[in-house]
Amino acid sequence: MRILITNDDGIFAPGLWTLAKELKNIAQVVVVAPDREQSAIGTAVTLRQPLRAQRVSPIVPEVETYSVAGTPADSVILALGKLVKNKVDLVISGINQGPNLGDDVLISGTVGAALQGYLCGFPALAISVAAVDSLHLDDAARLAVLLARKIDSNSLPTDILLNVNLPDLPLAKIKGIKITRLASGGYTNTIEEGFDGKREYYWVVRQKVNTDTDRKTDVWAIDQGNISITSLHTHLLNKSSPSISDSLCSDLLQELQKT
Ligand code: MN
Repeated sequence: MRILITNDDGIFAPGLWTLAKELKNIAQVVVVAPDREQSAIGTAVTLRQPLRAQRVSPIVPEVETYSVAGTPADSVILALGKLVKNKVDLVISGINQGPNLGDDVLISGTVGAALQGYLCGFPALAISVAAVDSLHLDDAARLAVLLARKIDSNSLPTDILLNVNLPDLPLAKIKGIKITRLASGGYTNTIEEGFDGKREYYWVVRQKVNTDTDRKTDVWAIDQGNISITSLHTHLLNKSSPSISDSLCSDLLQELQKT
């Protein structure tokens, strides 16, 4: 199995390399990621200026690694179109430090990269932990390994774009794995104003609000201490839902919590 890994936290982010280190045990891994943090860049693609990429030394030994002066989506397009030339079986974006839930998936660079992988014809996962300073990156990486194996063995459909979020909890305290839908109206934007001595400036501040209390949502699942798996293409692209059984979810949780 050959897996393309990217992210939006930048090529030096610990989440990316925790993921690469675990996936390397089961697959040939190629990292193609932005050279700097690109969080909240969404699905942006660079079309009006040249893109530059260079092969760089990996943080995990023996992983083919390219740094791209572009967005997460650029990284995936460049990887699949040129650097690894479609020789991949799966695209994984993450591990993002911070949740990507509800409406926020529309601005998420992590999800934007996975979406590009899916649109290029590959199964794709976006994976995030719901804490900025996460102590549980290893657990998320192990879940990514389990999901990659399920895709490789056709226990999961290959035509999938999954958005996976883990709560900021130790594995033993995770209650379950829920197949969810995106919560709506989960965030508000407020504007803070200031003055830098010469000009006024504005900060957009995004805050989580709980307006959707449906128990089938990703926000609810995470708030209740569950792992959330949302099949995104069914929401974004109006396709029918792939069948992911509840028994597969409980199998996954058992395997994940096995020490
Ligand atoms: Mn990010």
